[in-house]
Amino acid sequence: MFGPASLDASTLFVVNAASLVVFSVVYLVAWSQRANRKYWLNLTIANLIFAVAFVMFSHRIDGSKETLLLPNCLLVIGLGFRWQAIRAFFGRRPTYRLSISLTVLVAALLYGSDMLGPGTVFGGVNVIIALQIAIIIYTLASERHQHLPSRWGLIAAYGVLLGSSALRVMQGWMLDRGMDSLLPADTFLDIHLIAAAIHIVACGAFSLSMAYEQGTEGLRRAALSDPLTGLLNRLGLEHELTRLVGLAPLRCAVVLIDIDEFKQINDKHGHAAGDIVIQKCSRTITARLRNIDFAARVGGEEFAIILPDVTLEEAGRIAERIRRAIELEEVTTPEGPIRFTVSAGISLSETPPHIFSQLLIEADRQLYQAKADGRNLVRLASRTG
Ligand code: GH3
Ligand code: MG
Ligand code: MG
Repeated sequence: MFGPASLDASTLFVVNAASLVVFSVVYLVAWSQRANRKYWLNLTIANLIFAVAFVMFSHRIDGSKETLLLPNCLLVIGLGFRWQAIRAFFGRRPTYRLSISLTVLVAALLYGSDMLGPGTVFGGVNVIIALQIAIIIYTLASERHQHLPSRWGLIAAYGVLLGSSALRVMQGWMLDRGMDSLLPADTFLDIHLIAAAIHIVACGAFSLSMAYEQGTEGLRRAALSDPLTGLLNRLGLEHELTRLVGLAPLRCAVVLIDIDEFKQINDKHGHAAGDIVIQKCSRTITARLRNIDFAARVGGEEFAIILPDVTLEEAGRIAERIRRAIELEEVTTPEGPIRFTVSAGISLSETPPHIFSQLLIEADRQLYQAKADGRNLVRLASRTG
């Protein structure tokens, strides 16, 4: 096929099997460096299973039922491992029921081929394979929590495979109606094998780059967040404020919250209990924020909250609710129950551009005032413009 420099199917089978083995070694190397990343192991197993299936397919020229059964089942099992790998990559728990059911279904279809006819079986097996690929694409597309552009490359790689499977479903459908009027069967085979080759290489490359992106995304998050509370840290706050300036909300309030007499809590109950108090305070704050608000831990026991599109009175109410909630709750620590209070200072910018450095200074002045006035208080700036 394909002109004088003809690509014969058995060469393509060998090339595909070899590529699968090469990438399985690459995955294995990746796994050896990060043994807790089980998805590399799943990908290695899947590739080796596919490689065995390809070798078997290249030898089963007679097309008998028995010789077809195993490689097709292997394809379904291999795709099952691929799906598990993607689920593991996104931190989901493994599920084997679907993959096992589909494998049994393929085996049943192939065993019943005398009754069903070759076209139905060929089409049916490929419907199952296409379904598995569609599930993989869905799993990849529905993961929106992480910024992973290579995910789309991987989706495209599976899209190629899905196209090839869809073509095979059509072939199966035509088989019983005399497919000879279409392209010769070996042309179809070449198309599928080339699609598989593109898929294998693209899948390998994009899996590696997606893992790289996840790694750098993890580092970025760690650099911008506070490990004790999970809130943004100072750097994270700066990033979010830069983003917010671009969105230019009409008004914007800054609330600074500081735990009262925290040093005494540390001195009396110990640093570990103090940490629990900080965590509790952070949870109480975030529980009372809207989706568009965000909070950061900007000091040992000091938090900044950004409230876009609020009036000074609304910001005051939100801060007062937080102050009151903290005043009423009791923190359970190994050192016994602890009660604590917070003070808050609020500033507001009425019109963009909002100069957050000034807003933070003004909120801090109000916080200082709340402390001076006796603590467990919220103080609002008179309008800061
Ligand atoms: P005020 O009411 O005026 O705010 O009094 P304060 O005691 O809360 O103020 P100060 O800023 O003097 O005390 C803050 C203390 O917070 C001092 C420091 O040891 C402690 N601290 C800072 N970071 C951490 C932390 O991560 N964990 C714990 N447990 N303590 C911390
Ligand atoms: Mg304090
Ligand atoms: Mg402080």
